[in-house]
Amino acid sequence: MIFRKNVEPACTYCRHSSPAEEGTCICLKRGIVSEWGSCRHFSYDPLRRVPESSPAPKTEGLDQDAFSLD
Ligand code: SF4
Repeated sequence: MIFRKNVEPACTYCRHSSPAEEGTCICLKRGIVSEWGSCRHFSYDPLRRVPESSPAPKTEGLDQDAFSLD
């Protein structure tokens, strides 16, 4: 998923950008831009993409002894 070629363009993972203040990036071509903006110069850099974390597993109603090793 992270290396797919048809990603939604966003400045936050464009190779021309660097992170700046909250919600903005510094673009080599356009200056300060919104992190979710884009333009025709977009070039995907998969190493800038931060994968979403998985939600914590639901343990309600489960026996806690099932998770111990003794
Ligand atoms: S404005 Fe264009 S070139 Fe600049 S970071 Fe965003 S997508 Fe990349």
